[in-house]
Order: sequence, then C-alpha cells, then structure tokens
Amino acid sequence: MDHISNFIHGKYQKSESEKFLEVLDPSKGEVVKLVNNSNKSDLEKAVSSSKKGFVEWSNYTPLKRSRIISDYKNLINANIKNLANIISIEHGKTYDDAIGSLTRGIEVIEFACGIPHLLKGEFSADVGTDIDSWSMRQPLGICVGITPFNFPAMVPMWMYPMAIACGNSFILKPSEKNPSCAIELAKLFSEAGLPDGVFNVINGDKDLVNLLIEHNDISSISFVGSTPVAKYIYSEAAKNAKRVQALGGAKNHLVVMPDANLENAVDGIIGAAFGSSGERCMAVSVAVAVGDIADELVSNVKSKAETLKVAPWTDKESEMGPLISKQHKEKVIDYISIGEKEGADLLLDGRNIKIQGYENGFFVGPTLFDNVNSQMKIYNEEIFGPVLSVVRVKNYNEALELVNNHPFGNGTSIYTSDGEISRHYTSNAKIGMVGVNVPIPVPMAFHSFGGWKNSIYGDYGMHGNEGVKFYTKLKTVTSRWPKSIKSGPEFSMPIN
Ligand code: NAD
Repeated sequence: MDHISNFIHGKYQKSESEKFLEVLDPSKGEVVKLVNNSNKSDLEKAVSSSKKGFVEWSNYTPLKRSRIISDYKNLINANIKNLANIISIEHGKTYDDAIGSLTRGIEVIEFACGIPHLLKGEFSADVGTDIDSWSMRQPLGICVGITPFNFPAMVPMWMYPMAIACGNSFILKPSEKNPSCAIELAKLFSEAGLPDGVFNVINGDKDLVNLLIEHNDISSISFVGSTPVAKYIYSEAAKNAKRVQALGGAKNHLVVMPDANLENAVDGIIGAAFGSSGERCMAVSVAVAVGDIADELVSNVKSKAETLKVAPWTDKESEMGPLISKQHKEKVIDYISIGEKEGADLLLDGRNIKIQGYENGFFVGPTLFDNVNSQMKIYNEEIFGPVLSVVRVKNYNEALELVNNHPFGNGTSIYTSDGEISRHYTSNAKIGMVGVNVPIPVPMAFHSFGGWKNSIYGDYGMHGNEGVKFYTKLKTVTSRWPKSIKSGPEFSMPIN
C-alpha cells in the first residue's frame, strides 16, 4: 500500500508518528493509500524549514518571485492530466471537472504573477514642508492553509500562490481525505525554482490543525471548510493573535423569475445542483420558483435530472461521480429521509442507485424535492450532496426575503429578462457572490472570493486584492529630507 508522506524543505519526508489515516477511492469504496497523521515533531520540522524559507524568499524582489511563479504555472500546465487523474481517483469527480478546477486554480497563479504591480503602494509628495509619505505592503512571515476535501487543488491554490507571491512562506494542511495532489503541487513548485522551505505540505487531521493554530511562529491561518469548523478556527486562531480568514459552508439559492429563459434556467440548475455530486460550496441547493413558472420549471428539471449519467470518473460519459465517503453518503441519505418526513414532495430519489461493478462506491443519484419550505431542516442545513430543494414563492419580494433570511450567504443567482429586477437583486441580496443569468457566480482570480453571514468569518476573502491585503502588513513611512531640519522638539501636532 502506498504511503503519502509530507513535503518539507524541498523533499518528501516521512512522519515521525506511527499513525496513519486511510485514503479511499470513493468510486470503489476501497482504501488506496495511507497518509501520515503528523505530530508535533513533524510540525516543528515544517516550521523550522518555513522560517529559513521566509528569510531567503522575502529578500527576493517581487519581479524575481513572479518569474519563478510563472515557470511554476508552465509546469502545472505540462502536468495537468496527471494532476487531474490524482484528483479524480481520490475525490471521485469527473476528469473534466478536475481539469476545470485546476484551471480555476491556475488563474490565481496567473494573477499572482502580477505581484510587482499588486504590491505598489501609495505615495504623497509634500505631506508637510519637505516631507513625503508613502505606504508599502510587507509579508507576514509563515502563513498556513487548512483546506477541505471537495477541491484538493483549487482551494489550496486560492491561498498559497498569493501568500508566496507576497513574500511569505506557506504551510499547507490539505484534507486528509485526498492529500496526494497537494504534495504533487508542492513538488512542482520546487522544480520551478522555489527555494526550499517556502512551500511545505504537512498531512494530518484535526489534532494537527490544533497544533497549527496554537503555534507561536505562525502568523496567519487561511481556512476553507464546514461552518462549525470555520467558526472554531476563527475564534481559536484569533485567541492566539493570528490573522485569520475562515470560509464556511453554504446553501445557495437560484431564483427563477416568471420572465426567465426557462431552458437556460433549467440547464443552469442541473449543472449547479448535481455537478460534482453537489459537493461544491457554490452548488445550487435551492431553486426558488417565482409565480407561475414553477410547474414547468419543476417538470423540466425532473426530466433532465433523471437522465444524468451517474458513474465513476473512469467512464468518459460520467456526469456525476460518488460522494467522498461512506459516512457522508449516509448523512446525505438521512437528509433525504428527513425531507420525506418533513412533508416535502420527493420527486426523484437517489438513495438506491446501484452502479454495476461499483456496488461499494459511495454513489447517490440526483434527488429532487418540491414544495420545500423555510421551516424544514432540508432547507436550513447544508446537505452537500446531489439534493435539490424547490421552494415556490408568489413574487420577487418573497424570493428576496427568503434568500436574505437564510443563515448562509455564500452565493446566489437570479434568472430574469428584467434589468430592473436584476439590478435590485444584485444590490439587495445579502450574499457575498451574486449572479445574473449565470448559475455559479464564482469570481475570477482578479476579483475576490468570499461569502457573507455564516459562510465566512474574518474580514478578507480569498485571492484578488483581498488576498494581497490578507497576506501583507501595511507600513506607512513619513520622511523629512533634505538635511536642513529646523532644530528643537515640537510639542504640538504638526499642521503642515
Ligand atoms: P471540514 O470542515 O470537515 O474539513 C476542512 C478541514 O478542516 C480539513 O483539512 C480537516 O482536516 C479540518 N478539520 C475537520 N474537522 C476539524 C476540527 N474539528 N477541528 C479542526 N480542524 C478540522 O470540511 P470538508 O468536509 O473537508 O469540506 C466540505 C465543507 O467545506 C462544506 O461545508 C463546504 O461548503 C465547505 N467549503 C466551503 C468553501 C467556501 O469557499 N466557502 C469552499 C469549499 C468547501
């Protein structure tokens, strides 16, 4: 059985711990690898390497950093098929979806190549007589990323290219469920010329996370995962005086107005609800049908959803793979049973799907509930599976109220032909990322990613300008020059 080690100081390093965690192929339900469950002594090795890495790397000019990052981008592109295979084996998502997620990650690397421009500060001449003032942004030190299973490459790539471009060293703790891709990404960065210690990957579970957030030499924590863990990490990391951004779960609504292009709305819902088996933080899990479009919308969504091909990623025609684990499959199945008991109409039931040759895989088929309401558990909680709830409302105001009262605030979208409604929605939805006639409004790398309400704790989103701000400290310099300074101390605030 293959053992996945850590990647520290430019090489693979076995953990000193005797403990291992199992990594599964979710399509088969079989253990395929074992991964180190690293301990304190492994972490000390990573931190000591990161300290050395930081001293060297923070002295590279931004342009020199940018050139290495650009070479890294080329290496990732050259290895993209291998990386996608690794993702599909350990996550179960389709190969094309894995390629898509890597491409979205590469966009952040492309953005990070512009770091000389992004780090430009502000300058004011003559803030006082003979006095100039300017600001600059400097790196924090050792930054840490803790990431979820659903995007083994893309979510880490929201973080480390930005942190490293800003001059920091970075320790990544990927999800223990699919850690191999992160190790490969670190190895490629090393091959591109990144000095040893600037990007280390250390594997483990929540015990390792606790060690990371308590460590005195670590400056910041970037977290993406479920809301209870995000909230915990936000408060614990803040208690330890760290800068922290913690992105949590979601329940994203797609509102369909009566004047929407129905075909586009149905296609948008199908891809966003069932793509990646609903295991996306920007998945659409609630379709809000406004007025008299509801019957046709539900009937068209049902007939498309029931034809989706659910199969392992090795089947080129697969549109939906398995869920990540047996426990998660059971959780999703429980939610479907709860929805039935709560009185929602179960129009499509994915609980009993069987894939020949993959009977032990963690598959759940597309599931559709109609007439869901805001009192139901299946409406209020994140299911993170291929389960779509349709809520019927009378008018736009009811739809907006529904969206705004939900405790999560990651993404939302509206399908309409009415510019006035669209403008009102984008201004008034209390949600971090809003789409109009697009199903999954994930911002590009040069904008920033982040929700509102229970979908984020902390002030900054990921990548874009928010990423630069998160991974740097602001310094403002006030300088009097030339030498002819009037002598004598001044005891009142200067006014010119
Ligand atoms: P998770 O919260 O279980 O795990 C995320 C990371 O936290 C992992 O590295 C894990 O090892 C660690 N962890 C787990 N439990 C912990 C604990 N008790 N204490 C400390 N660390 C702990 O999340 P997951 O199941 O891997 O991922 C799915 C979740 O991530 C969903 O809720 C999804 O919405 C969310 N997500 C959010 C975004 C976003 O941008 N908002 C993006 C992707 C995924």
